[in-house]
Amino acid sequence: MRDDRHHWTEDAKCSSLHPDAFDLEGYRGTRESKRMTARQLCEGCPVIAECARDVLEHDSYGLVRAGLWTPGWMCGGPLDPDNKKGIFTGELKFISATGRLPESEAAA
Ligand code: SF4
Repeated sequence: MRDDRHHWTEDAKCSSLHPDAFDLEGYRGTRESKRMTARQLCEGCPVIAECARDVLEHDSYGLVRAGLWTPGWMCGGPLDPDNKKGIFTGELKFISATGRLPESEAAA
């Protein structure tokens, strides 16, 4: 029987990685390279679905979460005219339901 005190973050791949690696704001790369870096950072994480649900439940955008680079402007900032937050939200819902990253490269 699973221990109710066990929290999903204890199984996170990032629990053994330095937090700075997940902050791509100052990273001098293209949007595509940031997106690929985010995917690589979270690739193989056993709790990617839980991570995506956590972002959706707590509106905790910023940094790399659930294999996506979600820029800091999504944290309470003005709505983006291209509705990129909506695209991220759709991707997060897909990840939370399937436990895997979407193949689409539409966001970011
Ligand atoms: S999916 Fe979430 S919990 Fe897993 S490594 Fe990425 S940021 Fe960490």
